[in-house]
Amino acid sequence: MSHLQAQANYRPWPYAPRPFQDEAFGSWFGRVASRYRMTVEMAWEINGLGQLPALTNVGWILFAPLDNTALDKLAALARVEAKTIGSIQTPVSWMVARRRLPFCFRCLVLNPMDVSAPYWKRAWLNPDITDCCEHGEQLETAPPSVLRRAGNTEQLISNVGKYRRRMEKRQARRGR
Ligand SMILES: [Zn+2]
Repeated sequence: MSHLQAQANYRPWPYAPRPFQDEAFGSWFGRVASRYRMTVEMAWEINGLGQLPALTNVGWILFAPLDNTALDKLAALARVEAKTIGSIQTPVSWMVARRRLPFCFRCLVLNPMDVSAPYWKRAWLNPDITDCCEHGEQLETAPPSVLRRAGNTEQLISNVGKYRRRMEKRQARRGR
């Protein structure tokens, strides 16, 4: 058992955001990490959840499905039913490397349920998705590196915003 694991504290977190019904698991856990100013890797290890599972080139936002032990521990830590955390897991068939990852920026920055809690939708991780089911528009995409470099959900959303601004500037220059 590692030092960090030995220090693991299974008492519930003082504060735990609830997962949104259509949120990706990585997004929710990444919001927990953001809240405690940690990276997803640190938050995973410090909570005694074992080794971070094998991920794809996209990083933790496309989080591998959890086993029941990890689900139960997280449910206790977050005071959320294991079934709720189970319902936002990534299907195994979605755990494939990507060239780009789709998202709807309008949905990403404006969460109608809580404007202070932007999150990544689970549906955007579906390799077959093309359009936003809220807005009906074709989804934008970001390269895996933009997502992988983020330590937690707050950083991930900020990275995606910066990436869009860079692309807009580039397009404006080309259009001149
Ligand atoms: Zn949308």
